[in-house]
Amino acid sequence: MEKPKLSVKEFLAHLRRQTVSEIISDDCLAAFSNVEAQFGNKFSRVSGFEVRLGNPSRYVDYILTAEEKNIPFVDFIWIEIDYEQFAADKKIEPCFFVDVTPKNGDYSEFWDKVLPMFMGEQRARKLRAPLDNLTANLPEGAIIKQIGTMTGRGELNFMCLAVLLSKWEDICPALKKIGWKGDINALWATIESWHENFGVALTFDLSEKGVHDKMGFELFPRWRHPLLVDRFIARLERSGLCLHSKGDALRRWIRILPDVEPFIQTDIHYFKLNYLDGKIIEAKAYIEQTPHLIHHYFSNYYRPLYVEFMLKDEKNTLPIAIALKYIYDCKENNIRRVKFSGDVGNYEHIDRLLNVCKENKIVATVELSKKITREQLKGMIAAGASEFIADIENSALKILQELNFANIQAKFFVDDENFRDLEQITKFASSLGVKELILTGMNPHNIKKSAPSRDALEYIANFISNYEKAPAQMKLSVEPCFSVLKAFMGGENPKKNPNRGINRGCTAGRNHFCITSTGNFSPCKFIPDEKSNSIADYWQKSQTLENFRAYESPCTDCSYKRRCLPCPALKIQICPLASYKSTLY
Ligand code: SF4
Ligand code: SF4
Repeated sequence: MEKPKLSVKEFLAHLRRQTVSEIISDDCLAAFSNVEAQFGNKFSRVSGFEVRLGNPSRYVDYILTAEEKNIPFVDFIWIEIDYEQFAADKKIEPCFFVDVTPKNGDYSEFWDKVLPMFMGEQRARKLRAPLDNLTANLPEGAIIKQIGTMTGRGELNFMCLAVLLSKWEDICPALKKIGWKGDINALWATIESWHENFGVALTFDLSEKGVHDKMGFELFPRWRHPLLVDRFIARLERSGLCLHSKGDALRRWIRILPDVEPFIQTDIHYFKLNYLDGKIIEAKAYIEQTPHLIHHYFSNYYRPLYVEFMLKDEKNTLPIAIALKYIYDCKENNIRRVKFSGDVGNYEHIDRLLNVCKENKIVATVELSKKITREQLKGMIAAGASEFIADIENSALKILQELNFANIQAKFFVDDENFRDLEQITKFASSLGVKELILTGMNPHNIKKSAPSRDALEYIANFISNYEKAPAQMKLSVEPCFSVLKAFMGGENPKKNPNRGINRGCTAGRNHFCITSTGNFSPCKFIPDEKSNSIADYWQKSQTLENFRAYESPCTDCSYKRRCLPCPALKIQICPLASYKSTLY
Protein backbone atom coordinates (compact mmCIF):
# COMPACT_ATOMS: atom_id res chain seq x y z
CA MET A 1 0.00 0.00 0.00
CA GLU A 2 1.23 3.47 -0.89
CA LYS A 3 2.58 5.25 2.21
CA PRO A 4 0.87 8.55 3.01
CA LYS A 5 2.84 11.67 2.13
CA LEU A 6 2.30 15.36 2.67
CA SER A 7 3.82 18.37 1.02
CA VAL A 8 6.71 20.01 2.84
CA LYS A 9 4.56 23.16 2.86
CA GLU A 10 1.88 21.37 4.90
CA PHE A 11 4.44 20.06 7.38
CA LEU A 12 5.96 23.52 7.80
CA ALA A 13 2.55 25.15 8.29
CA HIS A 14 1.98 22.68 11.13
CA LEU A 15 5.41 23.45 12.58
CA ARG A 16 4.70 27.19 12.61
CA ARG A 17 1.47 26.52 14.52
CA GLN A 18 3.10 24.21 17.06
CA THR A 19 6.35 26.00 17.75
CA VAL A 20 8.86 24.64 20.27
CA SER A 21 11.00 27.73 20.69
CA GLU A 22 13.46 26.08 23.13
CA ILE A 23 14.49 23.88 20.19
CA ILE A 24 13.69 25.98 17.13
CA SER A 25 14.33 29.69 17.60
CA ASP A 26 12.41 32.37 15.73
CA ASP A 27 15.42 32.85 13.44
CA CYS A 28 15.58 29.15 12.67
CA LEU A 29 11.82 29.04 12.08
CA ALA A 30 12.06 32.01 9.75
CA ALA A 31 14.92 30.34 7.84
CA PHE A 32 12.60 27.45 7.01
CA SER A 33 11.10 29.73 4.37
CA ASN A 34 14.23 28.94 2.31
CA VAL A 35 13.47 25.23 2.64
CA GLU A 36 9.90 25.98 1.63
CA ALA A 37 11.01 27.96 -1.41
CA GLN A 38 13.06 25.02 -2.71
CA PHE A 39 11.13 21.99 -1.45
CA GLY A 40 7.68 23.34 -0.41
CA ASN A 41 5.71 21.57 -3.13
CA LYS A 42 7.58 18.27 -2.81
CA PHE A 43 5.86 15.41 -1.05
CA SER A 44 7.58 13.70 1.86
CA ARG A 45 6.85 10.65 4.01
CA VAL A 46 7.99 12.49 7.07
CA SER A 47 9.37 15.81 8.25
CA GLY A 48 12.19 15.40 10.77
CA PHE A 49 14.47 17.57 12.87
CA GLU A 50 17.84 16.73 14.35
CA VAL A 51 18.00 18.32 17.80
CA ARG A 52 21.31 18.73 19.65
CA LEU A 53 20.13 18.24 23.19
CA GLY A 54 23.13 19.55 25.12
CA ASN A 55 23.82 22.49 22.84
CA PRO A 56 22.25 25.82 23.88
CA SER A 57 21.93 26.90 20.23
CA ARG A 58 18.31 26.67 19.19
CA TYR A 59 18.54 25.44 15.63
CA VAL A 60 17.93 22.10 13.96
CA ASP A 61 18.92 20.27 10.80
CA TYR A 62 15.98 19.26 8.63
CA ILE A 63 15.15 15.83 7.23
CA LEU A 64 12.64 14.95 4.51
CA THR A 65 12.20 12.25 1.89
CA ALA A 66 11.86 12.36 -1.89
CA GLU A 67 10.69 9.68 -4.29
CA GLU A 68 13.56 8.16 -6.29
CA LYS A 69 12.98 6.60 -9.68
CA ASN A 70 16.47 6.26 -11.13
CA ILE A 71 18.45 4.23 -8.60
CA PRO A 72 17.69 0.50 -8.66
CA PHE A 73 16.29 -1.01 -5.40
CA VAL A 74 15.68 2.49 -4.04
CA ASP A 75 12.13 3.88 -3.86
CA PHE A 76 12.91 7.01 -1.94
CA ILE A 77 15.83 8.95 -0.66
CA TRP A 78 16.40 10.71 2.68
CA ILE A 79 17.45 14.33 2.39
CA GLU A 80 19.21 16.02 5.28
CA ILE A 81 19.67 19.79 5.18
CA ASP A 82 22.01 21.44 7.66
CA TYR A 83 20.78 24.58 9.37
CA GLU A 84 23.79 26.47 8.01
CA GLN A 85 22.58 25.55 4.52
CA PHE A 86 19.03 26.78 4.84
CA ALA A 87 19.91 29.78 7.02
CA ALA A 88 22.14 31.07 4.22
CA ASP A 89 19.78 32.40 1.60
CA LYS A 90 21.17 30.46 -1.36
CA LYS A 91 20.64 27.19 -3.19
CA ILE A 92 20.50 24.33 -0.68
CA GLU A 93 22.95 21.46 -1.17
CA PRO A 94 21.69 18.65 1.04
CA CYS A 95 23.21 15.36 2.24
CA PHE A 96 21.56 12.14 1.10
CA PHE A 97 20.80 8.78 2.71
CA VAL A 98 19.13 5.64 1.37
CA ASP A 99 17.68 2.62 3.13
CA VAL A 100 19.57 -0.55 2.27
CA THR A 101 17.36 -3.38 1.03
CA PRO A 102 19.61 -6.11 -0.41
CA LYS A 103 17.83 -8.81 -2.39
CA ASN A 104 17.94 -12.12 -0.46
CA GLY A 105 20.61 -10.68 1.82
CA ASP A 106 23.04 -10.30 -1.12
CA TYR A 107 24.70 -6.94 -0.56
CA SER A 108 27.08 -7.16 -3.51
CA GLU A 109 24.37 -6.81 -6.16
CA PHE A 110 22.92 -3.91 -4.15
CA TRP A 111 26.31 -2.17 -3.91
CA ASP A 112 27.03 -2.80 -7.63
CA LYS A 113 23.84 -1.12 -8.70
CA VAL A 114 23.27 1.51 -6.03
CA LEU A 115 26.66 2.88 -4.98
CA PRO A 116 27.86 4.45 -8.26
CA MET A 117 24.51 6.14 -8.86
CA PHE A 118 24.18 7.24 -5.27
CA MET A 119 27.65 8.58 -4.53
CA GLY A 120 29.33 8.85 -7.92
CA GLU A 121 31.65 6.40 -9.73
CA GLN A 122 34.88 7.63 -8.20
CA ARG A 123 33.79 7.55 -4.55
CA ALA A 124 31.97 4.23 -5.05
CA ARG A 125 35.20 2.68 -6.41
CA LYS A 126 37.24 4.08 -3.54
CA LEU A 127 34.91 2.92 -0.79
CA ARG A 128 33.88 -0.41 -2.27
CA ALA A 129 36.71 -2.48 -0.74
CA PRO A 130 36.22 -1.29 2.87
CA LEU A 131 32.47 -1.67 2.42
CA ASP A 132 32.80 -5.24 1.14
CA ASN A 133 35.09 -6.01 4.04
CA LEU A 134 32.60 -4.60 6.52
CA THR A 135 29.66 -6.38 4.88
CA ALA A 136 31.51 -9.71 5.02
CA ASN A 137 32.23 -9.22 8.72
CA LEU A 138 28.78 -8.29 9.92
CA PRO A 139 27.89 -10.43 12.93
CA GLU A 140 24.91 -12.78 12.75
CA GLY A 141 21.59 -10.93 12.86
CA ALA A 142 23.16 -7.54 12.03
CA ILE A 143 22.04 -5.68 8.93
CA ILE A 144 23.11 -2.47 7.26
CA LYS A 145 20.00 -0.35 7.44
CA GLN A 146 21.14 2.87 5.81
CA ILE A 147 24.01 4.47 3.93
CA GLY A 148 24.62 8.15 3.44
CA THR A 149 26.87 10.72 1.89
CA MET A 150 27.80 14.10 3.29
CA THR A 151 28.28 15.63 -0.14
CA GLY A 152 26.35 18.73 0.90
CA ARG A 153 29.06 19.43 3.48
CA GLY A 154 31.79 18.88 0.93
CA GLU A 155 32.96 15.69 2.70
CA LEU A 156 33.72 13.37 -0.20
CA ASN A 157 36.07 10.78 1.26
CA PHE A 158 33.80 8.69 3.42
CA MET A 159 30.28 7.34 3.66
CA CYS A 160 27.99 7.12 6.69
CA LEU A 161 26.54 3.80 7.75
CA ALA A 162 23.86 2.68 10.17
CA VAL A 163 24.09 -0.96 11.21
CA LEU A 164 21.17 -2.48 13.06
CA LEU A 165 21.94 -5.05 15.76
CA SER A 166 19.29 -7.41 17.04
CA LYS A 167 20.36 -7.13 20.67
CA TRP A 168 22.29 -4.86 22.99
CA GLU A 169 24.88 -7.50 23.91
CA ASP A 170 26.01 -7.64 20.27
CA ILE A 171 27.60 -4.20 20.45
CA CYS A 172 31.15 -5.22 21.44
CA PRO A 173 31.38 -8.34 19.23
CA ALA A 174 30.04 -6.29 16.32
CA LEU A 175 32.58 -3.49 16.85
CA LYS A 176 35.41 -6.01 16.94
CA LYS A 177 34.22 -7.74 13.78
CA ILE A 178 33.82 -4.60 11.73
CA GLY A 179 37.32 -3.47 12.69
CA TRP A 180 36.61 -0.55 15.03
CA LYS A 181 39.98 0.41 16.47
CA GLY A 182 38.92 2.09 19.72
CA ASP A 183 39.12 0.71 23.27
CA ILE A 184 36.19 -1.69 23.44
CA ASN A 185 36.31 -2.12 27.25
CA ALA A 186 36.21 1.62 27.80
CA LEU A 187 33.32 1.94 25.38
CA TRP A 188 31.35 -0.83 27.07
CA ALA A 189 31.92 0.66 30.53
CA THR A 190 30.46 3.94 29.25
CA ILE A 191 27.58 2.65 27.19
CA GLU A 192 26.46 -0.51 29.02
CA SER A 193 24.04 1.17 31.39
CA TRP A 194 22.05 2.69 28.50
CA HIS A 195 20.82 -0.82 27.79
CA GLU A 196 18.08 -0.78 25.16
CA ASN A 197 15.56 -3.63 24.83
CA PHE A 198 14.32 -2.97 21.34
CA GLY A 199 17.49 -3.29 19.28
CA VAL A 200 20.15 -0.69 18.72
CA ALA A 201 21.79 0.75 15.62
CA LEU A 202 25.45 1.74 15.37
CA THR A 203 26.20 4.75 13.20
CA PHE A 204 29.68 5.56 11.99
CA ASP A 205 31.71 6.80 9.07
CA LEU A 206 33.65 4.49 6.77
CA SER A 207 36.58 5.55 4.62
CA GLU A 208 39.43 3.81 2.84
CA LYS A 209 41.12 3.51 6.23
CA GLY A 210 38.14 1.60 7.66
CA VAL A 211 35.67 2.44 10.42
CA HIS A 212 36.18 5.86 12.05
CA ASP A 213 36.58 6.27 15.80
CA LYS A 214 33.47 8.25 16.54
CA MET A 215 30.56 5.86 17.13
CA GLY A 216 26.87 6.71 17.41
CA PHE A 217 24.21 4.63 19.14
CA GLU A 218 20.62 5.02 17.98
CA LEU A 219 18.41 4.27 20.98
CA PHE A 220 14.74 4.14 21.84
CA PRO A 221 13.66 3.40 18.27
CA ARG A 222 10.21 2.13 19.25
CA TRP A 223 7.44 4.40 20.39
CA ARG A 224 6.50 3.96 24.04
CA HIS A 225 4.09 5.53 26.51
CA PRO A 226 4.85 9.27 26.97
CA LEU A 227 5.69 8.67 30.64
CA LEU A 228 8.41 6.21 29.60
CA VAL A 229 9.76 8.69 27.05
CA ASP A 230 9.77 11.29 29.86
CA ARG A 231 11.90 8.94 31.96
CA PHE A 232 14.45 8.59 29.22
CA ILE A 233 14.59 12.36 28.72
CA ALA A 234 15.02 12.83 32.50
CA ARG A 235 17.93 10.40 32.43
CA LEU A 236 19.60 12.39 29.65
CA GLU A 237 19.06 15.55 31.71
CA ARG A 238 20.58 13.97 34.85
CA SER A 239 23.58 12.84 32.81
CA GLY A 240 24.18 16.39 31.61
CA LEU A 241 23.48 15.35 28.01
CA CYS A 242 20.25 17.29 27.63
CA LEU A 243 19.45 20.85 28.68
CA HIS A 244 16.30 21.10 30.80
CA SER A 245 14.83 23.64 28.40
CA LYS A 246 15.21 21.19 25.53
CA GLY A 247 13.93 18.31 27.67
CA ASP A 248 10.80 20.37 28.42
CA ALA A 249 10.31 21.06 24.73
CA LEU A 250 10.60 17.35 23.91
CA ARG A 251 8.03 16.49 26.59
CA ARG A 252 5.68 19.03 25.02
CA TRP A 253 6.43 17.88 21.49
CA ILE A 254 5.29 14.28 22.14
CA ARG A 255 2.05 15.59 23.63
CA ILE A 256 0.99 17.85 20.77
CA LEU A 257 -2.50 16.81 19.70
CA PRO A 258 -2.50 15.38 16.16
CA ASP A 259 -4.09 17.22 13.27
CA VAL A 260 -6.85 15.11 11.82
CA GLU A 261 -7.17 16.06 8.15
CA PRO A 262 -4.53 15.75 6.89
CA PHE A 263 -3.36 13.62 9.75
CA ILE A 264 -0.07 14.81 11.32
CA GLN A 265 1.34 13.38 14.52
CA THR A 266 4.48 14.46 16.35
CA ASP A 267 6.84 11.94 17.90
CA ILE A 268 10.47 11.19 18.71
CA HIS A 269 11.78 8.75 16.14
CA TYR A 270 14.85 7.86 18.21
CA PHE A 271 17.65 9.31 20.33
CA LYS A 272 21.31 9.13 19.45
CA LEU A 273 24.34 9.08 21.76
CA ASN A 274 27.66 9.94 20.13
CA TYR A 275 30.73 8.34 21.70
CA LEU A 276 34.40 9.22 21.30
CA ASP A 277 37.54 8.48 23.34
CA GLY A 278 35.95 7.03 26.46
CA LYS A 279 32.91 9.28 26.80
CA ILE A 280 29.54 10.18 25.39
CA ILE A 281 30.21 13.49 23.72
CA GLU A 282 26.68 14.46 22.81
CA ALA A 283 23.05 13.36 22.68
CA LYS A 284 20.63 14.10 19.87
CA ALA A 285 16.92 13.57 19.42
CA TYR A 286 15.37 12.96 16.02
CA ILE A 287 11.92 14.39 16.34
CA GLU A 288 9.39 14.22 13.54
CA GLN A 289 6.04 15.17 12.14
CA THR A 290 4.48 12.18 10.47
CA PRO A 291 1.33 11.48 8.45
CA HIS A 292 1.26 7.97 9.97
CA LEU A 293 -0.47 7.04 13.18
CA ILE A 294 2.44 6.17 15.48
CA HIS A 295 0.56 5.86 18.77
CA HIS A 296 -2.84 6.31 20.37
CA TYR A 297 -1.79 8.29 23.42
CA PHE A 298 -4.05 11.24 22.78
CA SER A 299 -7.67 11.82 23.75
CA ASN A 300 -8.71 14.13 20.92
CA TYR A 301 -7.50 15.83 17.79
CA TYR A 302 -6.13 19.37 17.71
CA ARG A 303 -9.34 20.44 15.99
CA PRO A 304 -12.47 18.33 15.35
CA LEU A 305 -12.71 16.14 12.29
CA TYR A 306 -16.21 17.52 11.77
CA VAL A 307 -18.84 19.68 13.40
CA GLU A 308 -22.44 18.55 13.47
CA PHE A 309 -25.09 21.25 13.00
CA MET A 310 -28.47 20.29 14.46
CA LEU A 311 -30.55 22.56 12.24
CA LYS A 312 -34.08 21.98 13.48
CA ASP A 313 -35.79 19.93 16.16
CA GLU A 314 -39.23 19.90 17.81
CA LYS A 315 -38.52 23.11 19.74
CA ASN A 316 -35.93 25.23 17.95
CA THR A 317 -34.56 26.21 14.58
CA LEU A 318 -30.93 27.27 14.24
CA PRO A 319 -30.88 30.88 12.98
CA ILE A 320 -29.18 31.08 9.59
CA ALA A 321 -26.83 33.87 10.75
CA ILE A 322 -25.49 31.64 13.54
CA ALA A 323 -25.19 28.65 11.23
CA LEU A 324 -23.21 30.72 8.73
CA LYS A 325 -20.99 32.24 11.42
CA TYR A 326 -19.92 28.80 12.56
CA ILE A 327 -19.42 27.46 9.05
CA TYR A 328 -16.96 30.31 8.47
CA ASP A 329 -15.48 29.48 11.87
CA CYS A 330 -14.95 25.91 10.63
CA LYS A 331 -13.11 27.26 7.61
CA GLU A 332 -11.01 29.52 9.81
CA ASN A 333 -10.02 26.53 11.94
CA ASN A 334 -9.25 24.30 9.00
CA ILE A 335 -12.18 21.97 9.78
CA ARG A 336 -13.05 20.45 6.46
CA ARG A 337 -16.23 18.56 7.27
CA VAL A 338 -19.66 19.36 8.63
CA LYS A 339 -22.76 17.28 9.16
CA PHE A 340 -26.26 18.76 8.96
CA SER A 341 -28.83 16.87 11.00
CA GLY A 342 -32.29 17.28 12.49
CA ASP A 343 -35.33 18.04 10.37
CA VAL A 344 -33.20 19.16 7.40
CA GLY A 345 -36.04 18.88 4.91
CA ASN A 346 -37.98 21.58 6.73
CA TYR A 347 -35.02 23.86 7.35
CA GLU A 348 -35.58 26.63 4.85
CA HIS A 349 -31.91 27.61 4.51
CA ILE A 350 -30.42 24.18 3.90
CA ASP A 351 -29.61 24.90 0.25
CA ARG A 352 -27.85 28.14 1.18
CA LEU A 353 -25.74 26.37 3.82
CA LEU A 354 -24.78 23.67 1.34
CA ASN A 355 -23.81 26.31 -1.18
CA VAL A 356 -21.58 28.10 1.31
CA CYS A 357 -19.92 24.81 2.21
CA LYS A 358 -19.27 24.07 -1.44
CA GLU A 359 -17.80 27.52 -2.04
CA ASN A 360 -15.50 27.08 0.94
CA LYS A 361 -14.45 23.51 0.08
CA ILE A 362 -16.10 22.07 3.16
CA VAL A 363 -17.45 18.54 2.74
CA ALA A 364 -21.12 18.62 3.79
CA THR A 365 -22.89 15.44 4.89
CA VAL A 366 -26.65 15.56 5.28
CA GLU A 367 -28.22 13.18 7.78
CA LEU A 368 -31.79 12.35 6.87
CA SER A 369 -33.78 11.32 9.91
CA LYS A 370 -37.24 12.06 8.50
CA LYS A 371 -39.10 11.49 5.25
CA ILE A 372 -37.98 13.80 2.51
CA THR A 373 -39.28 14.57 -0.97
CA ARG A 374 -37.56 14.03 -4.29
CA GLU A 375 -37.62 17.79 -4.95
CA GLN A 376 -35.94 18.56 -1.61
CA LEU A 377 -33.21 16.00 -2.30
CA LYS A 378 -32.68 17.33 -5.81
CA GLY A 379 -32.30 20.83 -4.37
CA MET A 380 -29.72 19.69 -1.81
CA ILE A 381 -27.73 17.81 -4.44
CA ALA A 382 -27.75 20.84 -6.71
CA ALA A 383 -26.68 23.04 -3.80
CA GLY A 384 -23.62 20.88 -3.16
CA ALA A 385 -24.41 18.11 -0.64
CA SER A 386 -21.37 15.82 -0.65
CA GLU A 387 -22.92 12.84 1.09
CA PHE A 388 -26.19 11.60 2.61
CA ILE A 389 -26.74 9.31 5.59
CA ALA A 390 -30.15 7.79 6.19
CA ASP A 391 -31.64 4.98 8.23
CA ILE A 392 -32.08 1.87 6.14
CA GLU A 393 -35.87 2.24 6.40
CA ASN A 394 -35.83 5.75 4.94
CA SER A 395 -37.38 5.99 1.46
CA ALA A 396 -34.79 8.69 0.63
CA LEU A 397 -32.30 5.92 -0.17
CA LYS A 398 -34.39 4.74 -3.11
CA ILE A 399 -34.90 8.29 -4.37
CA LEU A 400 -31.17 9.02 -4.14
CA GLN A 401 -30.48 5.92 -6.20
CA GLU A 402 -32.98 7.04 -8.81
CA LEU A 403 -31.28 10.43 -8.85
CA ASN A 404 -27.96 8.63 -9.51
CA PHE A 405 -26.38 10.10 -6.41
CA ALA A 406 -23.43 7.86 -5.50
CA ASN A 407 -22.26 8.93 -2.08
CA ILE A 408 -24.84 7.35 0.22
CA GLN A 409 -24.40 5.78 3.65
CA ALA A 410 -27.18 3.78 5.28
CA LYS A 411 -27.51 3.05 8.97
CA PHE A 412 -28.99 -0.08 10.48
CA PHE A 413 -29.78 0.13 14.18
CA VAL A 414 -29.30 -3.41 15.44
CA ASP A 415 -31.25 -4.74 18.41
CA ASP A 416 -32.11 -8.08 19.91
CA GLU A 417 -35.05 -8.61 17.64
CA ASN A 418 -33.75 -7.65 14.22
CA PHE A 419 -30.14 -8.89 14.21
CA ARG A 420 -31.03 -11.95 12.12
CA ASP A 421 -32.19 -9.57 9.35
CA LEU A 422 -28.61 -8.46 8.81
CA GLU A 423 -28.01 -10.57 5.71
CA GLN A 424 -31.22 -9.40 4.08
CA ILE A 425 -30.56 -5.77 5.06
CA THR A 426 -27.06 -5.97 3.60
CA LYS A 427 -28.42 -7.24 0.28
CA PHE A 428 -31.11 -4.57 0.30
CA ALA A 429 -28.62 -1.76 1.00
CA SER A 430 -26.33 -3.07 -1.71
CA SER A 431 -29.21 -3.20 -4.20
CA LEU A 432 -29.84 0.50 -3.48
CA GLY A 433 -26.26 1.35 -4.46
CA VAL A 434 -25.34 2.29 -0.90
CA LYS A 435 -21.60 2.92 -0.53
CA GLU A 436 -21.37 2.01 3.14
CA LEU A 437 -23.76 0.27 5.49
CA ILE A 438 -23.09 1.34 9.07
CA LEU A 439 -24.24 -0.86 11.92
CA THR A 440 -25.11 0.95 15.08
CA GLY A 441 -26.81 0.15 18.37
CA MET A 442 -26.84 0.77 22.12
CA ASN A 443 -27.03 4.56 21.85
CA PRO A 444 -29.89 7.07 22.26
CA HIS A 445 -30.56 7.17 18.50
CA ASN A 446 -33.23 4.59 19.26
CA ILE A 447 -33.48 4.25 22.99
CA LYS A 448 -36.54 2.03 22.87
CA LYS A 449 -34.68 -0.80 21.22
CA SER A 450 -33.26 -3.52 23.41
CA ALA A 451 -29.50 -4.16 23.45
CA PRO A 452 -28.47 -7.22 21.44
CA SER A 453 -27.76 -10.29 23.52
CA ARG A 454 -24.32 -11.90 23.58
CA ASP A 455 -25.54 -14.46 21.03
CA ALA A 456 -26.70 -11.62 18.81
CA LEU A 457 -23.27 -9.93 19.08
CA GLU A 458 -21.64 -13.19 18.10
CA TYR A 459 -23.97 -13.60 15.14
CA ILE A 460 -23.26 -10.06 13.92
CA ALA A 461 -19.50 -10.40 14.44
CA ASN A 462 -19.45 -13.64 12.43
CA PHE A 463 -21.52 -12.10 9.68
CA ILE A 464 -19.15 -9.12 9.36
CA SER A 465 -16.11 -11.35 9.39
CA ASN A 466 -17.53 -13.50 6.56
CA TYR A 467 -18.69 -10.45 4.64
CA GLU A 468 -15.17 -9.00 4.73
CA LYS A 469 -13.65 -12.19 3.32
CA ALA A 470 -15.44 -11.85 -0.01
CA PRO A 471 -14.83 -8.86 -2.26
CA ALA A 472 -17.83 -6.55 -2.10
CA GLN A 473 -18.65 -3.16 -3.52
CA MET A 474 -20.41 -1.97 -0.40
CA LYS A 475 -18.45 -1.41 2.78
CA LEU A 476 -19.90 -2.79 6.00
CA SER A 477 -18.76 -0.96 9.12
CA VAL A 478 -19.61 -0.53 12.80
CA GLU A 479 -20.22 2.94 14.16
CA PRO A 480 -17.87 3.86 17.04
CA CYS A 481 -20.98 4.65 19.16
CA PHE A 482 -21.66 0.87 19.07
CA SER A 483 -18.46 0.30 21.00
CA VAL A 484 -19.69 -2.88 22.64
CA LEU A 485 -19.79 -4.65 19.27
CA LYS A 486 -16.44 -3.20 18.20
CA ALA A 487 -14.80 -4.29 21.44
CA PHE A 488 -16.43 -7.72 21.28
CA MET A 489 -15.16 -8.27 17.71
CA GLY A 490 -11.59 -7.59 18.85
CA GLY A 491 -11.66 -10.38 21.46
CA GLU A 492 -11.30 -10.58 25.21
CA ASN A 493 -7.53 -10.18 25.38
CA PRO A 494 -6.95 -6.40 25.65
CA LYS A 495 -3.38 -6.76 24.37
CA LYS A 496 -4.55 -8.32 21.12
CA ASN A 497 -7.82 -6.41 20.74
CA PRO A 498 -7.25 -3.83 17.97
CA ASN A 499 -10.21 -1.67 19.00
CA ARG A 500 -8.17 1.22 20.32
CA GLY A 501 -7.70 4.89 19.69
CA ILE A 502 -10.33 7.56 19.19
CA ASN A 503 -12.66 5.40 17.11
CA ARG A 504 -12.86 2.63 19.67
CA GLY A 505 -16.04 4.08 21.12
CA CYS A 506 -17.78 7.35 21.89
CA THR A 507 -16.12 10.04 19.80
CA ALA A 508 -18.00 13.00 21.36
CA GLY A 509 -15.49 15.75 22.12
CA ARG A 510 -12.73 13.59 20.63
CA ASN A 511 -13.31 13.97 16.89
CA HIS A 512 -16.50 16.05 16.77
CA PHE A 513 -19.02 18.12 18.67
CA CYS A 514 -22.44 19.54 17.92
CA ILE A 515 -23.84 23.03 17.44
CA THR A 516 -27.41 22.57 18.57
CA SER A 517 -30.58 24.16 17.22
CA THR A 518 -30.34 26.82 19.96
CA GLY A 519 -26.91 27.92 18.69
CA ASN A 520 -25.19 26.43 21.73
CA PHE A 521 -22.48 23.77 21.85
CA SER A 522 -22.52 20.17 23.09
CA PRO A 523 -20.18 17.18 22.77
CA CYS A 524 -22.94 15.23 20.98
CA LYS A 525 -26.52 16.00 20.02
CA PHE A 526 -27.78 13.69 22.77
CA ILE A 527 -26.00 15.67 25.50
CA PRO A 528 -27.27 18.93 27.07
CA ASP A 529 -25.74 22.01 25.45
CA GLU A 530 -23.92 25.06 26.84
CA LYS A 531 -22.86 28.47 25.59
CA SER A 532 -19.53 29.22 23.99
CA ASN A 533 -18.06 31.98 21.85
CA SER A 534 -16.25 30.13 19.13
CA ILE A 535 -15.24 26.71 17.93
CA ALA A 536 -11.61 27.09 19.05
CA ASP A 537 -12.69 28.33 22.48
CA TYR A 538 -15.09 25.49 23.02
CA TRP A 539 -12.74 22.81 21.71
CA GLN A 540 -9.82 24.02 23.80
CA LYS A 541 -11.46 25.26 26.98
CA SER A 542 -14.77 23.49 27.63
CA GLN A 543 -14.73 21.55 30.90
CA THR A 544 -17.55 19.38 29.54
CA LEU A 545 -15.35 18.30 26.64
CA GLU A 546 -12.48 17.69 29.05
CA ASN A 547 -14.75 15.37 31.05
CA PHE A 548 -15.75 13.49 27.92
CA ARG A 549 -12.12 13.08 26.89
CA ALA A 550 -11.17 11.74 30.28
CA TYR A 551 -14.14 9.37 30.26
CA GLU A 552 -13.25 5.67 30.45
CA SER A 553 -15.51 2.65 30.48
CA PRO A 554 -17.25 2.61 33.87
CA CYS A 555 -17.61 -1.20 33.89
CA THR A 556 -15.14 -2.46 36.45
CA ASP A 557 -15.76 -6.16 35.99
CA CYS A 558 -15.59 -6.50 32.22
CA SER A 559 -12.67 -7.96 30.28
CA TYR A 560 -13.43 -5.62 27.34
CA LYS A 561 -13.18 -2.54 29.54
CA ARG A 562 -9.85 -1.29 28.16
CA ARG A 563 -11.03 -1.53 24.57
CA CYS A 564 -14.59 -0.29 24.98
CA LEU A 565 -15.96 3.23 25.43
CA PRO A 566 -19.74 2.79 25.69
CA CYS A 567 -22.21 5.57 25.03
CA PRO A 568 -22.24 7.95 28.01
CA ALA A 569 -25.54 9.45 26.85
CA LEU A 570 -27.36 6.21 27.64
CA LYS A 571 -28.06 6.73 31.30
CA ILE A 572 -28.65 3.08 32.04
CA GLN A 573 -28.53 0.17 29.68
CA ILE A 574 -27.79 -3.42 30.38
CA CYS A 575 -24.78 -4.54 28.37
CA PRO A 576 -24.89 -8.19 27.30
CA LEU A 577 -21.26 -8.55 28.34
CA ALA A 578 -21.80 -7.09 31.87
CA SER A 579 -23.72 -4.14 33.21
CA TYR A 580 -22.88 -0.51 33.69
CA LYS A 581 -24.32 2.74 34.90
CA SER A 582 -23.00 5.87 33.30
CA THR A 583 -22.91 9.03 35.40
CA LEU A 584 -20.91 11.38 33.22
CA TYR A 585 -23.41 14.22 33.12
S1 SF4 B 1 -19.66 -4.24 30.11
FE1 SF4 B 1 -18.97 -2.15 29.71
S2 SF4 B 1 -16.86 -2.34 29.02
FE2 SF4 B 1 -17.78 -4.35 28.91
S3 SF4 B 1 -18.46 -4.47 26.80
FE3 SF4 B 1 -20.20 -3.78 28.02
S4 SF4 B 1 -20.13 -1.59 27.92
FE4 SF4 B 1 -18.14 -2.33 27.21
S1 SF4 C 1 -22.55 10.23 23.40
FE1 SF4 C 1 -20.93 9.32 22.21
S2 SF4 C 1 -21.54 7.18 21.92
FE2 SF4 C 1 -23.34 8.32 22.62
S3 SF4 C 1 -24.38 8.85 20.74
FE3 SF4 C 1 -23.05 10.57 21.27
S4 SF4 C 1 -21.14 10.18 20.17
FE4 SF4 C 1 -22.30 8.29 20.16
